[in-house]
Amino acid sequence: MGRQARERGAWVVYGGIHATLFPDEPREHGGAHAVVKGDGDVVWAEVVRDCIAGHPATIYDAGRVTGENFISARWDLLPERGYMWASVQTVRGCPKHCSFCSVWRTDGQEPRQRTVTAVVREIVELRRRGFRFIALADDNFYPVTLEDLAQADRRADKTRLRELEAMRRERFDLMAELAQLPDDMVFYTQITMEAAEDPAFLDAMRAARIRGALVGVEAVTPEGLKDVYKGFNLAGEDLVERLREFRRHGVHVLGSFIFGLPSDRKETFDATVSLAERADITFAQFVLLTPFPGTIDFEKWAAESENHQTLVDGVPVTRHWLIPQHKRPKVYSPHPTMSSEEIRVRTQAAWDRFYSWRQVWNRSNVVTSVKARVAFVLISKLYRQMYANTGIATDSARVARSTKWANLLGRGCRMLFLAAPMPELRMPGHLEAEPVAAGIIPLTTLKGASRESGSSARRASG
Ligand code: SF4
Repeated sequence: MGRQARERGAWVVYGGIHATLFPDEPREHGGAHAVVKGDGDVVWAEVVRDCIAGHPATIYDAGRVTGENFISARWDLLPERGYMWASVQTVRGCPKHCSFCSVWRTDGQEPRQRTVTAVVREIVELRRRGFRFIALADDNFYPVTLEDLAQADRRADKTRLRELEAMRRERFDLMAELAQLPDDMVFYTQITMEAAEDPAFLDAMRAARIRGALVGVEAVTPEGLKDVYKGFNLAGEDLVERLREFRRHGVHVLGSFIFGLPSDRKETFDATVSLAERADITFAQFVLLTPFPGTIDFEKWAAESENHQTLVDGVPVTRHWLIPQHKRPKVYSPHPTMSSEEIRVRTQAAWDRFYSWRQVWNRSNVVTSVKARVAFVLISKLYRQMYANTGIATDSARVARSTKWANLLGRGCRMLFLAAPMPELRMPGHLEAEPVAAGIIPLTTLKGASRESGSSARRASG
């Protein structure tokens, strides 16, 4: 895409996690004029200015910006009503250190929270445009656990405790504001399982209409959790109880499970699906252990000499993302007891069982109206098509069919998600006077209306 854009005369700039980790690749393979490493929020203005002046730098090393400097997305640039939901980030970074995850290494382990006013203003703007489903696209929506507070309290110096308490208070302030927004709005997010030990937090989520959360369960056995450095999760029946706690507080769980861990055995696949069913999980994803760049798993795996020497179409397997998707290995590390194909087939079977028509229809009783149940079934099937078939299947015809189905289902679902725009929607009273966050283009301004003050609109457009 980058090369094609460049051929047509565009300035091509890459950013994001991958470009940050491998800044040379976009130039070698993607026609990049420039690469932004780190957070693009602040540096982007400089990049655009340099491109307009005709001399962008090769690399912009932007580092990590503070929460107050996060910029709202330019939703005004996207096709109107072309998306099912919008996404808004409220916090960046995660204090954990899971071995398969790059978030804590790229976004850092110190959570950076955006101001409540900036988040609410972006969400209000999105509701004005007709979005009522919003993903709070955070690395971890629950950055301060009760255990973190207890540990900090045991220290003689209470500075850290005060910092953590302030961070937690801001989370509650944010949820209290979300609760004031129109009651047709629905939020969902990503969260660690420890939130289930914190009933006050779950109650605040319910009041804020945060109806769903992706929870990284990863493994259902203590050995599996040890494999991925996720000892803070529970296993077995304790895990079932903890996951049910979300549901008791009105938060539906999308459970994420990893297959292909060294401790996995043939029985693990069925045991995992059974646990997901017993735990009242509403959605599930079963992913294959993949060494993603930037993770501990990747470093260990890439350091093994045989992996350097394995080539597919001349590309070392340690750069697996450069291999055409249909030729890429599905499982990267030899497993002590199962072949790669067996892991792949058993993983596919886990998807098939969890998303069978009967199971999906049974789970759809979480909603009451027929329209909502149909939406639930469509979303479940869409989810399965998008991830199970295209991510795991080796047969390219099946992948193509799945993509076609996913597109069709996606179009049908979009109409069920969007709502009538509410251009007159106001910010909650006490936040209205706060300055407009940088980067937001109010809808009213774009349409030539004048409800926002002129000075706010000018600041926003800048
Ligand atoms: S997997 Fe989740 S909990 Fe673990 S480091 Fe990544 S974001 Fe944090």
